Amino acid sequence: MSYEIKKQILDKIKEYSKIIIFRHKRPDGDATGSTKGLQRILRLTYPEKEILLQNSDFAEYMAFLGGEDAPVTDDYYADALGIVIDTGTTERISNQKFSLCKEIIKIDHHINIAPYGNPMWVEEERSSSCEMIADFYATFKDELKIDSEAATYIYCGMVTDSGRFRFRDVSGETMRLAGMLLDIGIDTDKMYANLYMKEFDIYKFEAYAYGQMQITENGVAYLHVTKEMQEKFCLSQEDASASVSLMDSIKNSLIWLAFIDNDDGSIRVRLRSRFVTINCIGEKYRGGGHACAAGATVYSVEEMNQLISDADARLKEYKENNEGWL
Ligand code: AMP
Repeated sequence: MSYEIKKQILDKIKEYSKIIIFRHKRPDGDATGSTKGLQRILRLTYPEKEILLQNSDFAEYMAFLGGEDAPVTDDYYADALGIVIDTGTTERISNQKFSLCKEIIKIDHHINIAPYGNPMWVEEERSSSCEMIADFYATFKDELKIDSEAATYIYCGMVTDSGRFRFRDVSGETMRLAGMLLDIGIDTDKMYANLYMKEFDIYKFEAYAYGQMQITENGVAYLHVTKEMQEKFCLSQEDASASVSLMDSIKNSLIWLAFIDNDDGSIRVRLRSRFVTINCIGEKYRGGGHACAAGATVYSVEEMNQLISDADARLKEYKENNEGWL
């Protein structure tokens, strides 16, 4: 089944001389790595084709992987094939001009709540979209070309989206594909230095944030990164958003939430969990995502408290009905 879809995608790619690759807004390592990785593979394989990345925003912490292509005019899209990677819904696509493309392909590992694209290749059990791009390459490796640059993009997305190969959707196949990429040649020392090293000021913010985080009766940890905090520590949106991981290993806390004030008055919510599924809570508050990693938006502190209370009830129910969760 999946082979058939992959073959259809390869055939479509062969049909077009112009291909534009898209990803989701607020790109992460997977969105960046999968799009840049596929672009590099296709450029190496088909030097005669024009293969561009056209996305409106950029992840500072992924800057070491390089940037985007210069924007093209609207008429460029009309005879191009659009490939959208790592993006569950069309609203989340970072460049809404994707709809000007002649045809659209979806490649994704998020829950397929809003199907689009033809062919559409979605495998929800994959640990990352980068894993799918690695699999795409492996399936057609007699035809496609790869190098260490492409392998690095893809490996970087696999590493970041799987929590350094820790999450439960990491399978034997994930590791076999990662092994294949390592064999191509990746400077992992350099990659991890780029992923881990941070400014001294960020350590100061983290020390403060540890003092601010709270926990509900049933073990939902949460932190509100207010505008005041963001200004005090000169945080970018990315710096502020990264704070969710500060709460990821508190005993008895199986759900943790970061609330980050946006410039427009809304509050971005990042939901994370162990064992217990929380995408249902994200969906209730204008978001969604994976079973244990989801996003949402709330518009007031009251709504934030409502979400915390929903998460607390969810965790209470989980703890009452399940054993052996530590
Ligand atoms: P984040 O906390 O933004 O990293 O999001 C965690 C996961 O939830 C990612 O896989 C996102 O793709 C997904 N997600 C975040 N926000 C939304 C949203 N508004 N709608 C659907 N999925 C989302």
